[in-house]
Amino acid sequence: MCKGGIILKVKIGVTPLFKADKKIWWMVPGYMEAILKVGGIPVMIPLTDDKTVLDEVFNDVDGLLFTGGQDINPHLYHEEKSEKCGYQCNIRDNQEVYLMKNALQLDKPLLGICRGVQLLNVVTGGTLYQDIESEFNREIKLVHKQQYPYNRGTHEVNIKKETMLYDVLGKEKIMVNSLHHQGIKTVGRDVIINAVAADGLIEGIEIPRVKFAMAVQWHPEFMFYEDKFQEKLFSLLVKRCTN
Ligand code: MN
Repeated sequence: MCKGGIILKVKIGVTPLFKADKKIWWMVPGYMEAILKVGGIPVMIPLTDDKTVLDEVFNDVDGLLFTGGQDINPHLYHEEKSEKCGYQCNIRDNQEVYLMKNALQLDKPLLGICRGVQLLNVVTGGTLYQDIESEFNREIKLVHKQQYPYNRGTHEVNIKKETMLYDVLGKEKIMVNSLHHQGIKTVGRDVIINAVAADGLIEGIEIPRVKFAMAVQWHPEFMFYEDKFQEKLFSLLVKRCTN
């Protein structure tokens, strides 16, 4: 970001998406466009768990964005895989666990989205519902797996006061989209819950002891085009990389 006294733009490493059947690495443009819109430079990380490569990439970026994607291997939170757990990508798991642990340890700002919130929870010792529909039973039934269009909010979340998320949004309730079949079951160490859906499902967490580690269960990368509040999550990530 700053080399030879010249201030450059904030560079954000974005974890890659992977389609196993077609063997392609891919990207949802919203992740990249959101970072560009708030003045950062997004860089897609290659899908590898080679630590030498990851160390170089890590050193080269100012912050990290952990994207949505495959279900996390339940072994990472010491549970057997259930029938309803989806396909896993072990290279992605290895890559993201390594990068996230380093980011937390070396205080590099990070934002997690969907799989990213689940990862932050697992990395800090929390557990997940492998399938909300069959494992999370509440009187109020919210649909967490909506259909297209994805930029539309379909359920409300309550934002808890005295959290970074509340500070940045300045609102106690927002509408969010919902494209997940897994969710946080028990929270990790040092983790604070910052957003909860009306059915009680945790929709956002953050870690106060580090510079910036925040993650949400919804998909702001589809919503920020029309929704200024969702854009604020990306602005905060980029801003925290500069101070
Ligand atoms: Mn949801």
